[in-house]
Amino acid sequence: AEDAGAFLIDESFAAEHFALRSEGSAKHMNGKVLIIAGSSTGESSMGGAALLAAGAAVKTGAGYVAVSIPPSLAATLHIAVPEAIVIGRDMDSLMEKARWSEAILIGPGLGRSPESIDLVRALLSHPDIFEKKLILDADALYAIAEAGLQNVLSAMPEVLITPHYGELARLTGTDAGSVTKDPLAAATRFADTYSTTVLLKGRPTIIAKESGPVLLNTSGTEALATAGTGDVLSGMVAALAAKGECLPEAAAAAAWFHGRAGDLASDVSSLVSASMVRDAIPSAIEEMFDF
Ligand code: AMP
Ligand code: MG
Repeated sequence: AEDAGAFLIDESFAAEHFALRSEGSAKHMNGKVLIIAGSSTGESSMGGAALLAAGAAVKTGAGYVAVSIPPSLAATLHIAVPEAIVIGRDMDSLMEKARWSEAILIGPGLGRSPESIDLVRALLSHPDIFEKKLILDADALYAIAEAGLQNVLSAMPEVLITPHYGELARLTGTDAGSVTKDPLAAATRFADTYSTTVLLKGRPTIIAKESGPVLLNTSGTEALATAGTGDVLSGMVAALAAKGECLPEAAAAAAWFHGRAGDLASDVSSLVSASMVRDAIPSAIEEMFDF
């Protein structure tokens, strides 16, 4: 992939890969997303990442967003993201919604417990998940590294991983320093080795795929360097994929809009939070179009 050159993502690329709702369309035609995220073990829970990803998918225009979250977090999710459908963690509910969905995001706030690792293993080997556009982020990447599931990715037709440097280092069994030294090589090597698409977060964000040029995103600033912004990004990618974009283009356009949303949020305040980035998504997208 590295030899095919590099392409700088710009405003017009992002606009080309965002489909407005067509006249006469219905909600089920505007992208159905399933998000499997969040965890709750005893006293500690990680729900925020799931809420941010779900909210971001809604604000990126998905017609339907379903979220599998532990039951103890369901009420919170309904309040934070009233547009979302909440489902449980049992395999039957998960697979019913997997068949229904067009893109599946696994990972934000999923946790690193043995149960989470087992869940990721079970999901990745399931035929109802296998054929879908799959976006793997955060703790799903931890599970893949822990359980040595990298080879499973090779066989899947449409899969995207969205690591930061530390997560890619763990997946490749190296230290973060070696990814930092040559992020382009690290991303393209993983994409080639496992026939997958890699969105490696950083400056620039790199989207490496099996063939064709590497895509580079430079929108966004250090305003995004705060907890939760990665979860917003993965929710955006899932929405664009469900709306019909192939994963590399969904990843690239989402990265551009995400950076732009960060810019708009930092126009309002120098203290940007992930929720502010999520809330700026519609403006970041709308400024591309004349209404
Ligand atoms: P994560 O590490 O998963 O929370 O994701 C962080 C998000 O913020 C990614 O989309 C990064 O590309 C973005 N980000 C973090 N720091 C910076 C920075 N200094 N400049 C531009 N983007 C950044
Ligand atoms: Mg993250």
